[in-house]
Formats: sequence, C-alpha cells, structure tokens
Amino acid sequence: MATDLRLPTNAIVKPDKDRFLNEDNPFEAMMSRFDRAAELLDLEPGLYKVLRKPEKQIIVACPVMLDNGEIEVYTGIRVLYNTSRGPAKGGIRFDMQVNLDEVTALAAWMTWKCAVVNVPFGGAKGGVICDPLKMSVGELERLTRRYTAGIIATLGPDSDVPAPDVNTNERVMAWLMDTYSMHKGHTVTAVTTGKPVEMGGSLGRREATGRGCMLVTKEALAHLGMNVKGTTVAVQGFGNVGSVSAQLLAREGCKIIAISDRTGGWHNAAGIDVDDAINYVKQHKSLEGYGKGDPISNEDLLTLDVDVLLPAALENVITTKNAAKVRAKVICEGANGPTSAAADAILDEKGVFVIPDILANAGGVTVSYFEWVQDRGGYFWDEDTVNDRLRNIMVKGFRDVLGLSKQHKVNMRTAAYMVSISRVATVHRLRGIYA
Ligand code: NAD
Repeated sequence: MATDLRLPTNAIVKPDKDRFLNEDNPFEAMMSRFDRAAELLDLEPGLYKVLRKPEKQIIVACPVMLDNGEIEVYTGIRVLYNTSRGPAKGGIRFDMQVNLDEVTALAAWMTWKCAVVNVPFGGAKGGVICDPLKMSVGELERLTRRYTAGIIATLGPDSDVPAPDVNTNERVMAWLMDTYSMHKGHTVTAVTTGKPVEMGGSLGRREATGRGCMLVTKEALAHLGMNVKGTTVAVQGFGNVGSVSAQLLAREGCKIIAISDRTGGWHNAAGIDVDDAINYVKQHKSLEGYGKGDPISNEDLLTLDVDVLLPAALENVITTKNAAKVRAKVICEGANGPTSAAADAILDEKGVFVIPDILANAGGVTVSYFEWVQDRGGYFWDEDTVNDRLRNIMVKGFRDVLGLSKQHKVNMRTAAYMVSISRVATVHRLRGIYA
C-alpha cells in the first residue's frame, strides 16, 4: 500500500468562491483556478494556507545617479512565492505598472508553471517601478546594479535565479550577473538565465517558448485526431512567442492564415509566408503596411474560422464578451493569462480544447532550467540537444496534464493546476511543514 503522505487533518478546503469575481484581473483569475484545483485535490487546510501565501516579499530602495548628476530613488521588488521544489525562478520587469500585488501573483504563476513541466524550481518574480524608455543605457545599468545589490541576500544559483521579463533583456541579465559576481569575488554564471550565449546563455533559449507552443499544439492535434498538415492557425502577437510559434508550426505543415501585432493584423486564406513576414518586421519594426492579405483587427482575428488560435500578445483577450464567438477547435495560450476564468466555462461548453498558459508557454522556463544546468556543469549543449530535451519535457508535461484531465473529467486548465499543485503539495508533505 502506498504511504499516505497527507498532513494530519480530515477537514476539506472550502474556498470562498465569491472572492474572485473581477473578470478583468488575470491574477485573480489565476488564483480562482488555484482554488478550484485545490478543492478537487482535497488539499489539507494547513497546506492550502501555506500555498496561498508568498514565502518572502522584499522591497528595496534603489538610489541611482542620473546622467544630469541628480539622485533618483526607484522602488525595487522581489517576491519568492514558493521554493519547496528548488531555487526560485522568475523574471524581472522594469515598468511603471509594477506593484507588490502583481509581482506576488506573477511569482505564484511561476511556481505552478515550473511544477507543471516538473522542472526543479520554485516560483519568483521581481520588478522595479520605472520608465525604462525614458532612461539612458547608463542609468539602466546603474539601476540594474543597485537593484541587484539590494536583493543580493536572496539571489544565488541555489536560492533565486532571475531572468528577463517586460522591458529587460540579455544585457540587463549580464549586468545583474556581473554585479552579483563582483560581490562574491568570482564569476557566477548560474545566478541568472536569459544571458547572452557568449557568457553562459543557452542555445535555443530565444526560440524555446514558441517551440514549446508548437510541440504542445502538435500533441493536442494528435489527441483530437486532427492532421497537422493543412491545419489552419491564427496567431495574435508577432513578437518572440508569436512569430517563432508561427514559423515552427508552418514548418510542420500548418497553414498560418492570420497574424497580428499592436498595429493590427493580416488575413490570407491561402496562407501567410511566415519567414517573409518575420523579415518584414525585422526591417519595419512592425506588421504595419505588410499588405500581403486583407487587414483584420485583433478582435476579429480571435473569432476567425480556424483550427488553432494562438494568442501570444496580451492577457485577457478572450472574455465573456467574445468567447461564445470563438470558432477555433484548439487554443494554445502562448501569452500569459489570455483567457478569463469566466470565459473558460463558455469555451468548455463549446468543446474548445484549451492548452493552458502554464503548460503551453513553459518552454521558456524549461530552457532557462537547461541554461542553469549547463552553467552549473560548465558544459554546454548543442542546439539539437537543447531542442530534443525540450521536446521530451513539453510532451511529457502535456501527457501528464491530459492524463489527469481524463481521469478527473476536468478541462486541461484545471488538470494543469492539479498537476502543479499536487507536485508542490507532495514535496511539502515529504519535507514536513516547519511550523
Ligand atoms: P514580445 O514583446 O516579443 O511580442 C509581443 C507582441 O504582441 C508584439 O508583436 C506586439 O506588437 C504584440 N502586441 C502588443 N500589444 C498588442 C495588442 N494590443 N494587440 C495585439 N498585439 C499586441 O513579447 P513575447 O516575449 O512574445 O511575449 C508575448 C506573451 O507571451 C506575453 O504574454 C508574455 O508574458 C508571454 N510569455 C513570453 C515568454 C517568452 O519566453 N518570451 C515566455 C512565457 C510567456
């Protein structure tokens, strides 16, 4: 008989279902899904309380000498949500919208995302309240270094490993790694991921999220008995995730019939040449004026008659306002939080197969994990090795979630949260709660 690892209590969790009613808030939507999965898992109340609270929230003042000689003081935040399964993992964003609640919710999100693909990380997120577009390169570098120094007590390959996020990039990660290394007195590449390849970054990282979307979309099509060849796809957002997903799906034989970005979209029933569109964006910075098809709005793209819809831009684009009009058979959530919790029920009713964000876009964090492993081992893999290992993890993640979804007769989103929460819960039970 299997050992019963549950914590000693028989009481059942009864989440307050009215607590999360704001459809416009994707973080509330995420936590409402957490509650639903926790209820189905019959999570012990003590553990439920532990998993609903961040482990650590740090707020630091970051004084920075501006180019004009004045001192400005920025506010930096780092939240470690849960580290039971390993070092905290999560990006750092520079944005005026950064606030403690949002960073905490994003850190929780990272916890579930790492667990669903079973990479041995916990979840974190960080940010600095600033407008990076109004700052010089020198000011950004000084801000990055001062923020890094502010949170240095939590950082480290064994404790907290940041990555780029909104308005941060490889260069910011290079400054962070350098600052940390200067304080330690030796080079520590594994303190962050998303670094330039020349200094310990991983091959395949740039394409990893889009590659993961392609892999799980193929799994979904196979599960539904649909042929990949000729499958029609509409992609909202043509940045890193959207353009790579579209390119790789096209290579697999799909027909990409609509793409869009912040300037609007293009629809071509005969198929869009994705490589050509990527080259256009490289030259013109956006799809504005692309012209090889008919113009289509971002809103209309979401309700096109396609086999696969791949939202890869913004959160909260599929809501109660348009979910009933969605005609896609499969939605692959490249973006974080593109579907509201209320819209889930409508899509379920229509029989749309949704590959939820925490699974669909986990390719990025998976190759971040590979980068950390390579840095710690001091031995770097070729790109085929990275891509093969990514495929193994994404396919296994998809099948784990699909298996639980069938077993419990729940949709893929609920099953993904159940997989994640049960993995985190199991580790807490094994370790015991230090209470
Ligand atoms: P990106 O900045 O490279 O691209 C974003 C794209 O969305 C651009 O084409 C932009 O023009 C478009 N866009 C912006 N506003 C829009 C609007 N109002 N309507 C339509 N399109 C709009 O960003 P990215 O890295 O591709 O990330 C896209 C999404 O995927 C985000 O939700 C992000 O959080 C999520 N994500 C990214 C990664 C990653 O590794 N890059 C990993 C996990 C999740």
